[in-house]
Amino acid sequence: MKIHQIYTASELRNFTYLIELNDGSAIAIDPWDKSVVNNLLLEKNLTLKAIINTHEHWDHIQGNPDLVAEHGCEVWAHSNGEGKIPGLSRMLLADELIDLDDNVQLKVLDTPGHTFAHLCFLVLEGAKPVAVFTGDTLFNAGVGHCRSGDGETLYKTIVDHFHSLNDQVIVYPGHDYLENNLRFTLSIEPSNVDASAWLARAMTADPSDEPMTTCIGDERTFNTFFRLDNALIKSNVDCEEGSPKDVFLALRKRRDNW
Ligand SMILES: [Zn+2]
Repeated sequence: MKIHQIYTASELRNFTYLIELNDGSAIAIDPWDKSVVNNLLLEKNLTLKAIINTHEHWDHIQGNPDLVAEHGCEVWAHSNGEGKIPGLSRMLLADELIDLDDNVQLKVLDTPGHTFAHLCFLVLEGAKPVAVFTGDTLFNAGVGHCRSGDGETLYKTIVDHFHSLNDQVIVYPGHDYLENNLRFTLSIEPSNVDASAWLARAMTADPSDEPMTTCIGDERTFNTFFRLDNALIKSNVDCEEGSPKDVFLALRKRRDNW
């Protein structure tokens, strides 16, 4: 199994992913359009067996119709995506395990908050989590907005599914928002040296060449939504006495208006 992270250079800086399997098949996650997937299938001589959509927003599904027409592939997503996700053929269930290769599986995480049809996918190698596809739930150095979801629900999702992951788990989000999110961190927590160091790298990185990835351990150092007990963050969002949930919601609101 090999994960290809493809930067689409779209206005919203979307990532599409292709999971290459040992039998010569592949699974596309959130196809921006057909060409971004077809180019890599051709280059690697792979057949497309399925599309997975993390959620129903247009920029995560618009490649579906063309790819289904061309490849006759299945489309897997949340059952709440019915009627919204083109070609949806398999409703994935919370905690379901999808076999990829020998000893490699995807574990389905039901992750409402950004929308109510959102799934994330944990990559397990020998039952050990090594990476996670996070759609618009968790970004590098940030979390998704809740304009078509709910902030308290997202808080619970982030705490239940992501705060508890091992530090080594690599984060594969739906968009490249790293640089902007690090600037947000520094607006709240100017003394965060990890955020400063990563920002310097992000400013010179070219995602089309090679996207920068973070792991959960990195997120704990510079993602304010992982740092809800931090005294400076609490004070700077006027939440000194607030609960972690209060701090999360204050940060989300601050980010919306930033
Ligand atoms: Zn979205």
